[in-house]
Amino acid sequence: MHEWALAESVIRTVLEHAGARNLKRLSEAGVVFGELQAIDKDIFTFALQQLRPQFPALGRCRFKIIKEPASFRCRACSREFPLNGLRRTKDESEFIHFVPEMAHTFLKCPGCASPDFEIIAGRGVHISYIKGDE
Ligand code: ZN
Repeated sequence: MHEWALAESVIRTVLEHAGARNLKRLSEAGVVFGELQAIDKDIFTFALQQLRPQFPALGRCRFKIIKEPASFRCRACSREFPLNGLRRTKDESEFIHFVPEMAHTFLKCPGCASPDFEIIAGRGVHISYIKGDE
């Protein structure tokens, strides 16, 4: 069910930003989903459609979902590397998607093999842009 809460908070955030920028007649909002965020896109889209009537200010605004690939930075050698391309089993991939913190158990820097890295992209959900008329 967290897709529903998420959809509602995305709508509220879009309306808040639109209000702050005096945008009227919203046309499109870009919603970025991190690769490590476990969200069912279909449920999320359905939830948006169902919630819409409660937020008439949305007008005809479309929501464009943009996937942000995960990216990591090694604390030992500063190398940046993606989630894709690292050797993992399918189970491990699934697990990492559900519990990003577990990435440290499975992933190692491809440069120096250190398990000490930070996640620099691919977490959470945020609004990347809002289009509309002023
Ligand atoms: Zn490294």
